[in-house]
Amino acid sequence: MRRALFALAATSMAMACGPGLAQVQPPTFTSSGNADFDGWRDDFARRAVALGRDPAVLRQLLSGISPDDSIITLDQQQPEFVSPVWDYVNNRVTDRRIAAGVQMRATLGTTLAQIQQRYGVDSDIVLGIWALESNFGQAPLNYTAPQALATLAFEGRRRAQFENYLLALCQMVERGLATPDELRSSWAGAMGQPQFMPDIYLSIAVDWDGDGKRDIWTNNADVAASISHYLQDRGWHAGEPVFDEVRLPGGFDFSLADGSTRSVSDWEGLGVRRIDGSAWTPSDRILQSQLYLPAGATGPALLLHPNFGVIRRYNNSDRYALVVALLARAFQGRGGLVTAWPQQVGSLNRDQTLELQTLLNSLGYNAGMPDGLFGSGTRRAVRAFQTDAHQPADGFPTAELLRQVRTRAGVSVDPPADAPRALDTRGVRELQRLLKRLGYRIGAADGSAGPATRNAIRSFQRRHHMDITGRATRDVLAAARDAVRQ
Ligand code: CA
Repeated sequence: MRRALFALAATSMAMACGPGLAQVQPPTFTSSGNADFDGWRDDFARRAVALGRDPAVLRQLLSGISPDDSIITLDQQQPEFVSPVWDYVNNRVTDRRIAAGVQMRATLGTTLAQIQQRYGVDSDIVLGIWALESNFGQAPLNYTAPQALATLAFEGRRRAQFENYLLALCQMVERGLATPDELRSSWAGAMGQPQFMPDIYLSIAVDWDGDGKRDIWTNNADVAASISHYLQDRGWHAGEPVFDEVRLPGGFDFSLADGSTRSVSDWEGLGVRRIDGSAWTPSDRILQSQLYLPAGATGPALLLHPNFGVIRRYNNSDRYALVVALLARAFQGRGGLVTAWPQQVGSLNRDQTLELQTLLNSLGYNAGMPDGLFGSGTRRAVRAFQTDAHQPADGFPTAELLRQVRTRAGVSVDPPADAPRALDTRGVRELQRLLKRLGYRIGAADGSAGPATRNAIRSFQRRHHMDITGRATRDVLAAARDAVRQ
């Protein structure tokens, strides 16, 4: 989904309402049935008119709209589970999707070649993005942009941002680039097959076939040209490769895969070679590239060239850009990665990542505030742990790594046979309240020992020199009662 801050038109309220100008009346609306929403909408419409937006268009876009609870729910949802990279890739680079891309290339024929000629962007990369964003228009767009953007502006978490999107949406309609009944979007307001936000639409979307409409909903040529223009605008280097799968020499220092950039020539000097043994050309050798190990030291190794970073400007994720690049290769009939994914090493779910972070912190490796998400801080902490343990410092979390960290932290994983009896819901709730009073960070005292509670218990056990199990047991409750009394 494309997002960028939309610069407000410089028109000031003083100008629009100043002496000598006939004051434009803001539009009026019938009630949505939600007084708070009506209040925000009327106020927004007043400010939009003062900024020069057309009251008739505002009325067209916002009449009959009320906040959609399903959008707010989706906006507040947090992913519970981050899938392993091999599942992410294999679920997206599918035979069906590859066939659809080849079919679209045939359908567009010479038009696609003309678009590539105009923008200098590899058309197979454009098809790869198109496939991921909307499956070439097959993915249903279940919302409309006015509804989605008004709901998210009203919700208020990012009000200014979404009000600016609404202002851009008005301009799209005022300028006749799209009509109100065309504005199908995702729940987040990303529109059409390229999933453009309104500000990106205004600055980037292309009317390739010249019918006066920038139709990113149903016109294939407009869609392909719009995605191409986006990548060109974000710095695509025509004719340059996106990535190379590489082979690393024995004894390679995996800590070099830390996101830092070197010329391909420098990587070559460190013993890095293309996986198929072919030589880089002089123009390849001057590319500034980074080494990426998506599944750690035992999985594929990739040199990411600058164009890989341009794909990330579409969606800020290495996995996303990798899938786009692999789809592009598949559309050309080329094979995927040579190196197999090391699925046997296992991957950590959010609970396990939270535990890993907490334990690394307790061992003095700074993994940051434990949140169950594997970010750069956790990766640095894992690398430091691996370095101290004389292991390849690839920073990749595996089930084996968690086992080692547990051992170092003195955590017993399997409860002994005579383990003290677990607490019932009431007992857990009391323990949670006590831990909160003692200053431990847990959420609501809900009687359920979730990840945050178990981490708080581990910290408590460590401070009180108990076995670190993270389990809500009678002896922990007794110790917590004692601690509160002291
Ligand atoms: Ca058009």
